[in-house]
Amino acid sequence: MAIADASPAGTAVREGKLLIGGEWVPAQDGRVLESVNPFDGKVWATAPRAGAADVDAAVRAAHEALNGPWGAMTASARGRLIRRLGELITENATELARTESTDNGKLLREMSGQLAALGDWYDYFGGAADKIEGATIPSSKPNYFTYTRHEPIGVVAAILPWNSPLLLLTFKLAPALAAGCTFVAKPAEQTPMSVLQVGELFAEAGFPPGVFNVVTGDAETGKALVAHPSVAKVAFTGSTDSGKHVMKSAADHLAKVTLELGGKSPNIVFEDADLQAATNGVIAGIFAATGQTCVAGSRLLVQRSVHDELVQRVAARARTIKLGNPLETTTEMGPVAFRDQFEKILSYVDLGLAEGAELVSGGKAATEPDLEGGYFVQPTIFTGVRNDMRIASEEIFGPVLSVIPFDTEDEAIAIANDTMYGLGAGVWTKDLQRAHRVAHAVRAGSVWVNSYRMITYNVPFGGYKQSGIGRENGLSAVRDYTETKSVWIELSGQTRDPFVLG
Ligand code: NAD
Repeated sequence: MAIADASPAGTAVREGKLLIGGEWVPAQDGRVLESVNPFDGKVWATAPRAGAADVDAAVRAAHEALNGPWGAMTASARGRLIRRLGELITENATELARTESTDNGKLLREMSGQLAALGDWYDYFGGAADKIEGATIPSSKPNYFTYTRHEPIGVVAAILPWNSPLLLLTFKLAPALAAGCTFVAKPAEQTPMSVLQVGELFAEAGFPPGVFNVVTGDAETGKALVAHPSVAKVAFTGSTDSGKHVMKSAADHLAKVTLELGGKSPNIVFEDADLQAATNGVIAGIFAATGQTCVAGSRLLVQRSVHDELVQRVAARARTIKLGNPLETTTEMGPVAFRDQFEKILSYVDLGLAEGAELVSGGKAATEPDLEGGYFVQPTIFTGVRNDMRIASEEIFGPVLSVIPFDTEDEAIAIANDTMYGLGAGVWTKDLQRAHRVAHAVRAGSVWVNSYRMITYNVPFGGYKQSGIGRENGLSAVRDYTETKSVWIELSGQTRDPFVLG
């Protein structure tokens, strides 16, 4: 069992274990980390703090599985297991969502929807498992038959952030399993529990032991995993700074990397936009999930002629956002996930004021009696922001919106692109040509027109510039978990000149 005490959240401290080679074990040196419920600031679960020896055991188990029954399985059988796993995740979505909401404070209603949809990923990528086809290539050399195979890359290490553990695990796990890889997951230290719970479903689905392993722990655990020479690929989601460390360490043994990193995404509203829809999109972009999403529309670029009206509408809605217990259905914004993040967000509010931005809404920790003990920050809006201010250029990862006016389309594009990031962007306009022009001109991996924050299994997702390397989701994601092998068959049976190439 992953979790020793399965009592409801808040009644007893749950104790997680590592999943290594199908066994649930403590860390070899017995260390644990505590997971705090951000709604009340209390420890609700503990999980092992895996060290290098535990990481080594997990990678070895994944290697054995690769060379064992999993590696020998047909692609069709693999696909069936992946789809079965997806069904089990869907069946357990409510319980998994409760775990994630308790671990990171995100709304149960968002997490329930998010996790109920995960089955689609396993269905899609499970279906892809037996369609990973190579090619027969007409030979340019006489008497050769050549073809390619797409073989599993090997052991994949997945390192996850705290904001959407299972969604971001699934972006990596579903295509990796389809490709035939085995897996070691390292959830964030703040949110270890849901990934362990999914570990329980692997045995139930019928996977051989060792295909999926979980090492809970902090950045040191992650570093040991990335540095392990038998890890063939690292799929990382987290901050840009950590991503750079991961890439440098992976380079020591030339492990392949996919990096999904931070953002400072622009939500661009033109004067011809439907302002009611845009208001809703701006709110969804920055206050949904308490602003703790990589694609948060944290810069609102608004054409000057509608600036005051849009700010007034967004501020009016922001003031009515209901803060509260993330497990309650009426709550619109839960707490920030943990204390350091809470303090960081409030320090950015002070910074914005010091930089000369004007605070039009929020800006403080919420102090209502029913929120006591939780890490709540009011929905916060700054106007008069210049794009070179730190509140407009650094990722805050919280409910803080920076509003920047513009006059022309060219200026909007220039401001949108004047960032080291390039993850998402929103464009609000009724002008079809402008919508496409701006969507093409913005240097970002996803552009939503008259919408914001859409992500699904069959549409590639990832970042330009320092928002990342590679794409997750979409069929091509499977190829990122394979190596291409070219096979040459000599057909003549004759001896060839050994000193001539070919
Ligand atoms: P983080 O970088 O602090 O931690 C992410 C994970 O990496 C954790 O599991 C952590 O233990 C581990 N880690 C940290 N340093 C490491 C190292 N040197 N080597 C190996 N592992 C290491 O990020 P976070 O605070 O947990 O998450 C928030 C960040 O994640 C934000 O920047 C956000 O934009 C980003 N994010 C990006 C996406 C995306 O798809 N692009 C999605 C969600 C979150």
